[in-house]
Amino acid sequence: MKDYQWADSTRMADIIPLLGLPSPPHGRSSYYVPCPCCDSGHKKHLNINLSKDVFRCPRCGFSGGMFDLYGYYTGVRRENVLEDMRKRLGNVNIGKHSDSANACAAGQPPDLYAHADNPPTDVETRDATYRALLGMLSLASDHTDNLLQRGLTREVIAQNGYRTTPVAGVKALARKLMAEGHYLAGVPGFFRDENDGAWTFTHNMRGILIPVRDHKGRVQGLQIRRDNVEKRKFRWVSSADMPDGCRAEGWVHIAGPVRENMLLTEGPMKADVIHYLTGHTVIAVPGVHSLTRLESLLPELMAEGAKHIMTAFDMDFLASHHVQRGYSELVWMLHDRGLTFGTYVWHPEYKGLDDYVWQCLKQGQHAV
Ligand SMILES: [Zn+2]
Repeated sequence: MKDYQWADSTRMADIIPLLGLPSPPHGRSSYYVPCPCCDSGHKKHLNINLSKDVFRCPRCGFSGGMFDLYGYYTGVRRENVLEDMRKRLGNVNIGKHSDSANACAAGQPPDLYAHADNPPTDVETRDATYRALLGMLSLASDHTDNLLQRGLTREVIAQNGYRTTPVAGVKALARKLMAEGHYLAGVPGFFRDENDGAWTFTHNMRGILIPVRDHKGRVQGLQIRRDNVEKRKFRWVSSADMPDGCRAEGWVHIAGPVRENMLLTEGPMKADVIHYLTGHTVIAVPGVHSLTRLESLLPELMAEGAKHIMTAFDMDFLASHHVQRGYSELVWMLHDRGLTFGTYVWHPEYKGLDDYVWQCLKQGQHAV
């Protein structure tokens, strides 16, 4: 078979196992592995994109195509890569030759897919970067008042780490974070300025930054409660579609330790308020239509002792026809996993359980 006829059927995914690199987590086409040029320890900054057959480290610029990756890890010279791959893979077609040879730190990296849909990096890295970022920001007084009105105390507001979104000086923040050794690549919200290539942070919406934590208390992502908007008040901090940016995923927030009985609601801020007011541990999904993350998390929660889930979605929310299908899917998911479940119902005058409990507490009644 001639070389040019080898086109298109062998892919990056075929050579990954030959190089001793980890496989992508459950069916993903884009994921991170440790960058051989700039990562140490457990850091993972080299993004491998299996659907585009390219790799790129947004941190150091090490990038290229399938042949480059193969050549780098095997030490085989580029002109011999094709033959070597053919030998090891057997008589199968090999994909198109990439022209983007690029050894570590050698010149300008090709702009292979800087605007590609990059997945987030690991949770430890995100947690460290977000915590450091939050540590550099403050909470404006109008935002403190807003949180106090929900029933939180100043102490709890400080503990939960809410901050006002930065509106200026974002490049300086990014520089400071990098100087402290934090990683910005693969952390949603950070991206490179199109003009000068400097790292920066999204700053087009003023609002309250809400840390979205996992069951170990790590900050997985951030949401913004936007000021002065009526619709879609809560948005993920994301830098999808920006150079070297990264999208957020529908992370599940957990307020409180994993327990046998837990509440389930929508939105991390609501979960924080209900947790503080009632003492219950509250799981928050981003919405009843984004349950994938919850589904993969349930076995972990059950291993830590979770048995019973009480759903506590807003009353008007549940009345919506649009939402009911998502809700019944949720209920079946809990059932299939072997969790028992129930639903909190409260006075329909109050939109959410947080409003209801807060009202009862103000009136000196016991609510939940
Ligand atoms: Zn690198």
